[in-house]
Amino acid sequence: MAVQTLDDLLAEGVSGRGVLVRSDLNVPLDGGRITDPGRIIASVPTLKALADAGAKVIVTAHLGRPKGGVDPAFSLAPVATALSERLGRHVQLAGDVVGTDALARAEGLTDGDVLLLENIRFDPRETSKDDGERLALAKALVELVGEDGAFVSDGFGVVHRKQASVYDVATLLPHYAGTLVAAEVKVLQQLTSSSERPYAVVLGGSKVSDKLAVIENLATKADSIVIGGGMCFTFLAAHGVSVGTSLLQEEMIETCRQLLETYGDVIHLPVDIVVAEKFAADSPAETVWADSIPADKMGLDIGPESVKRFTKLLSNARTIFWNGPMGVFEFPAFAAGTKGVAEAIVAATGKGAFSVVGGGDSAAAVRQLGLPEDGFSHISTGGGASLEYLEGKTLPGIEVLN
Ligand code: ADP
Ligand code: MG
Repeated sequence: MAVQTLDDLLAEGVSGRGVLVRSDLNVPLDGGRITDPGRIIASVPTLKALADAGAKVIVTAHLGRPKGGVDPAFSLAPVATALSERLGRHVQLAGDVVGTDALARAEGLTDGDVLLLENIRFDPRETSKDDGERLALAKALVELVGEDGAFVSDGFGVVHRKQASVYDVATLLPHYAGTLVAAEVKVLQQLTSSSERPYAVVLGGSKVSDKLAVIENLATKADSIVIGGGMCFTFLAAHGVSVGTSLLQEEMIETCRQLLETYGDVIHLPVDIVVAEKFAADSPAETVWADSIPADKMGLDIGPESVKRFTKLLSNARTIFWNGPMGVFEFPAFAAGTKGVAEAIVAATGKGAFSVVGGGDSAAAVRQLGLPEDGFSHISTGGGASLEYLEGKTLPGIEVLN
């Protein structure tokens, strides 16, 4: 892949130059508090290298999904504060995306300064399906860094999106892959082209429809696909099991049934489930066999017998990809499945397996459940992006850097 990287840009010299960086700073927030700063921490190396080299750094990023315009609830203000701390430099926040305040601040930058633009999704052109609209926003971004500017793509979590700040700007400016994007792509290449067997894939999380394509693509490459989380109930239903009030995607049952028919020996489902009456932290938990879920109860975690079986499967794996928690790990009573499987992955990694965790919530689970981050070979910052890569899809934000 003939992609220019940050090192190439630094070698060209960036002192006094405007450099636009697309970072992924889309962190989970609870009110104004950042509950997991993982993506901010992962964005620092590229920004630090540029600021240290004397570039005028302009960072663009999104936060959440504001609907059709400016919404103070999705302001990047808490992110600017956290980024300042992690970077050890003051990060100023523009009051708008590409408006008068952003322009004035961009003009006032001196070497080594860092300016964060307000949530790029406050501008509806960012995600527009209309090429012309996206290009217009991209041109406005380019104006901020000036004629001799450069673009560094470092927001791995969004490279699967054909959006103005991800894709279109790269068509207008000399473009480079940031440290994070380069590292993530290298890991994914290792997963797809040189994976050692046995190769185990662990899938969980809430929406089965997001992950069916990856199951289809990996079923022929992986030796086992372990399924837990909210998505396992659509598979259990496809087996003819009644799943009570658990998460269920009716319209996917038939597809799951076909997958089970074709890849039944590869796909492994939980044999026991931790159920509760309500989706609540304090709803009393009870473990039942997967084929005996009471009609008025919902499955919120996989049970201990499933953890035992999945652990055995994972213990001899040489390559492991994990996306999606095994249960509602945010509630302590339903976190044991995720913790147990994560521990099995850490143990396999300790024995030399190459392990990758992909997905915002999975990465958050690792940290919240107190697992060692260095117990995994790589923790990816992008769930959707890594899944689409593994599905064999072309990622527009990577393609455009070629
Ligand atoms: P990731 O961000 O790692 O890709 P997802 O976004 O697909 O993962 O799913 C994460 C969410 O799935 C978590 O918030 C978790 O609470 C939820 N989840 C896991 N198991 C269940 C379940 N049995 N029922 C409902 N939600 C679940
Ligand atoms: Mg998620």
